[in-house]
Amino acid sequence: LGPTITVGEILVEIMATTIGKGFLDAQPLVGPFPSGAPAIFIDQVAKLGGQAGIIAAVGNDDFGRLNVERLRRDGADVSAIAVSSDYPTGSAFVRYADDGTRDFVYNIARSAAGEIDLNDSARALIARAGHLHVMGSALSIPAVWPIIDYALGEIKKRGGTLSLDPNMRKELAAGEETGRQFKALVAASDLLLPSGDELFVACPAASADEAINTLLASGIAEIVVKRGQHGSALHTNAGRVSRPAFLVEEIDPTGAGDCFGATYLTCRRLGHSAEQSLDYANAAGARNVTRRGPMEGTSTFPELDQFIAATPRK
Ligand code: ATP
Repeated sequence: LGPTITVGEILVEIMATTIGKGFLDAQPLVGPFPSGAPAIFIDQVAKLGGQAGIIAAVGNDDFGRLNVERLRRDGADVSAIAVSSDYPTGSAFVRYADDGTRDFVYNIARSAAGEIDLNDSARALIARAGHLHVMGSALSIPAVWPIIDYALGEIKKRGGTLSLDPNMRKELAAGEETGRQFKALVAASDLLLPSGDELFVACPAASADEAINTLLASGIAEIVVKRGQHGSALHTNAGRVSRPAFLVEEIDPTGAGDCFGATYLTCRRLGHSAEQSLDYANAAGARNVTRRGPMEGTSTFPELDQFIAATPRK
């Protein structure tokens, strides 16, 4: 099959432990935790035993080492993570509001993530890859655009595939060129993994059904809509398959979507049915929200099997 690879930000996350207060009051903060949507995604693929690699850059600091060691321990290929001597590893601060929404304060624009480069190690990883996954958040880093472009061309030439998680963060740059890059990736996707309103970012439309039908007609084979506590649904030209969420106590929602996407994709690449893949992905998302820290709740298949057997569905 060839490894699943991704490109983008690796950072540490520091989060509020209180809800509905400003950062000035949100004490104590906890962290740093390994983070960055592409990093969480690739850690989850690796934990499931899938070959997984990431093209990224970290600083020559403890925050970088924290991430690289975690990814290595969990089985990801870290050969294409460059270490910048000029910039530090980025960070994100997360605060939760009463209505369940989140605010991020990102410190990645002038971090090592901006130094991601199509170097020899990145080219070597791309030469082995069978699938490219792109996180919308990574598109806020202009250095990532030519790498995605090159990787996509190489991987598709070999019959490989592309998945895209719109994963837009309002706090990250969304200029005209970011939008153009995003649109081109939507058009080239084999699998799209939007959640809620992200469907309309991928395809402006009057209703979700209209957006899904337009996207399917444009040639995207699978659209999987992540629905938080309502589970998830797969849309294809053959119809809709939906599966309920698992009943858990949510401690920290960040990272659920990344774990979900990684698990759905890996299951499909392993040949699992749509239903089984959605169940495993729902379980990976649910299990992740029960742990504080976005990468702390990534799962192995035995952990998911045990979770599914022990957890009621909604
Ligand atoms: P994030 O941006 O926080 O990573 P997301 O918005 O992309 O997440 P969600 O829909 O919140 O994605 O979560 C992905 C999946 O994880 C859901 O489809 C669901 O299966 C599972 N999930 C998330 N939150 C919960 C929850 N509170 N209870 C049960 N399952 C959940």
